Amino acid sequence: MSNLSFPRPRQSEVGERLRAEVREFLDDFDFRGDPHTASVFGGFDPEFSEALGARGWIGMGFPQRYGGGGYGLVERYVVLEELLAARAPITAHSVADRQSGQLLLRFGNERQREEILPRIAAGKSYFCIGMSEPDSGSDLASVRTRATKVDGGWLVSGAKIWTTNAHRSHYMILLCRTSPATQERHAGLSQFLVDMKTPGIVCKPIVNIAGVHDFNEVHLQNAFLPDEALIGVEGEGWKQVTSELAFERSGPERFLSHLGLLEEFVHVLKRQPSAEGAKALGRLVAHLATLRRMSRSVATMISDGQDAALHAALVKDLGTCFEQEIPEILRLALQTEPDPNASDAYRAALAHVVLNAPSSTIRGGTKEVLRSIVAKGLGLR
Ligand SMILES: Cc1cc2nc3c(=O)[nH]c(=O)nc-3n(C[C@H](O)[C@H](O)[C@H](O)COP(=O)(O)OP(=O)(O)OC[C@H]3O[C@@H](n4cnc5c(N)ncnc54)[C@H](O)[C@@H]3O)c2cc1C
Repeated sequence: MSNLSFPRPRQSEVGERLRAEVREFLDDFDFRGDPHTASVFGGFDPEFSEALGARGWIGMGFPQRYGGGGYGLVERYVVLEELLAARAPITAHSVADRQSGQLLLRFGNERQREEILPRIAAGKSYFCIGMSEPDSGSDLASVRTRATKVDGGWLVSGAKIWTTNAHRSHYMILLCRTSPATQERHAGLSQFLVDMKTPGIVCKPIVNIAGVHDFNEVHLQNAFLPDEALIGVEGEGWKQVTSELAFERSGPERFLSHLGLLEEFVHVLKRQPSAEGAKALGRLVAHLATLRRMSRSVATMISDGQDAALHAALVKDLGTCFEQEIPEILRLALQTEPDPNASDAYRAALAHVVLNAPSSTIRGGTKEVLRSIVAKGLGLR
């Protein structure tokens, strides 16, 4: 078995200065009144995204010539952590900021970078992830959506599923097959930058168990993509997509999604102190501190150019299991039943989190698949 260690996270003076600035900026808002902000990444608010963009807090790692702040990942981490802790509505731009922009920066052509990155950094361009397909969610190597080469571009046909925010995104990063599947399962996949207004793209809503329309089924019916839409190298989509997943899996959004509920719980405990409540809180906070240390360590590794895929998979698995435990531990500690219509903020938030928590260990990679990556990385399989 190979050794696994998480290097000491780097502390950034610039980052800590930014932390104070972000807190001051957030003082002008109050997102805590809405139970829906107790889970996931707050709301979808274009105005707020633009305000953050104007402060330079989106696309922070992009070079300045593409509208970024030229910061490192560690500074970006600090800002994101503060936004999540305040339950700020960052859903609109979060995929573009977290991974699509990074992907274009690394593999995109100059035209894609010049055109799109400044708009992402301004909080005006939203992205969705076109990876999962019906019958091949976890098994990305089996995707069947196909791009066929034609004069001046590609014709794409197939279907994507569980595509979060496809109905309100400007672009999709599409993973599809550009040559027939062979014995080498990871060969023949490519990524494309898809303008969601392209004729032949149809979004069909899927309503989740919380009754909310966030994700979709997306059908591509002979949609024409110009040559310039290809991202990186034809046939190297697997390598590119797995590097993108390290950004998707390790960040603070993988263990802070339900922090709002924990905060409401603390307010209740202040009013009605209890030994059970204190024990539950202590247990959760200890987990939280450890996860934060591990996740900051991954950010440090990625910013140092190290391969952190194994570490990111571990943080994602532990982080989302933690997120799933929160509502059950709290519910039992206070013997409170969730109620989405309750006027009491804690009970309403609890109901919201109970309905959203099951998706934690599925979105961004199921726990079984992540554990398989970890086992392989440790030489156990
Ligand atoms: C809230 C939410 C948002 C999402 N957003 C997006 C998005 O924006 N874009 C996108 O592309 N996808 C998105 N997804 C899809 C998500 O990534 C997939 O649902 C996930 O990868 C699982 O795929 P599946 O649902 O097809 O299940 P399957 O892959 O069929 O898995 C079914 C079960 O089998 C297990 N399993 C599968 N393969 C293995 C294996 N090799 N070993 C052991 N067990 C295995 C799984 O762990 C799971 O328990 C989202 C999902 C959710 C819940």
